[in-house]
Amino acid sequence: MNDGPGGPGDQAAYDVVVVGAGVVGTAIARELAHHDLRIAVLDAAADVGDGTSKANTAILHTGFDATPGTLESRLVRRGYDLLEGYAAATGIPVEPLGALLVAWDDEQLAALPKLKAKAEANGYDRTRVIGADEVYRREPRLGPGALGALHVPGESIICPWTTTLAFATEAVRAGVDLRLSTRVGEVVAGDGDRPHEIRTSRGVVRARYVVNAAGLWSDELDRRFGHRGFTVTPRRGELIVFDKLARPL
Ligand SMILES: Cc1cc2nc3c(=O)[nH]c(=O)nc-3n(C[C@H](O)[C@H](O)[C@H](O)COP(=O)(O)OP(=O)(O)OC[C@H]3O[C@@H](n4cnc5c(N)ncnc54)[C@H](O)[C@@H]3O)c2cc1C
Repeated sequence: MNDGPGGPGDQAAYDVVVVGAGVVGTAIARELAHHDLRIAVLDAAADVGDGTSKANTAILHTGFDATPGTLESRLVRRGYDLLEGYAAATGIPVEPLGALLVAWDDEQLAALPKLKAKAEANGYDRTRVIGADEVYRREPRLGPGALGALHVPGESIICPWTTTLAFATEAVRAGVDLRLSTRVGEVVAGDGDRPHEIRTSRGVVRARYVVNAAGLWSDELDRRFGHRGFTVTPRRGELIVFDKLARPL
């Protein structure tokens, strides 16, 4: 199907088109590929995982600090179990470093038991409040003044690039068409009888179902289908990336 602009592939018809080849879109495509469906993944970028998925903090979260009872709490917990298992099965690098939430004043120290209770309400019962001695035993190079910490043993780091690549590779091997450098523009929304018509920078693609995995642009895509379900409010932030030489710290 991937015969470029102007070729017969431009008029491709699919059961499902996933817009976005980030970690979300590729994971969904991999899952759907187990079914008897014609599936395509479209992404404007030239490679998979080129959006937010390539530029995050790489934490495999336990969900200990989510708001209990929310969808986020449920999904982060479920995602943790699924991704931990998938990483072990496929060899995605994971380092179970654990996390320390350090208290630097009395108010923060007093809040630690509440954070532990919150973790338990989220179904995570392995956190522990530890004293300053144990904090410095675990992190000898931490600056002076720590009064205690909440230790969260399950927090890990996971390679974000390998994760998206693994999902995409499995999806493609299972028959999914991965169409990169393909930006989705206007859409003529279909109905039960007519498929959706998706105009892209590489021709028109038709789909019975569209999965919106367009990350920060997912609200725009939503609007192109005539919905106003949600708005993404991106925020610009700053991360400090240390050299590998700083790793022992
Ligand atoms: C600074 C930072 C730190 C983070 N840290 C963590 C962390 O430690 N742990 C964690 O679990 N999560 C973390 N996250 C969140 C996580 O990175 C995101 O939730 C995740 O990457 C979102 O994946 P996605 O597939 O939804 O989006 P993306 O990876 O952004 O993928 C969306 C894709 O859609 C494509 N697209 C958009 N519009 C179109 C269009 N019109 N046509 C074609 N393609 C289109 C884009 O090119 C992009 O590739 C962090 C996020 C940030 C910003």
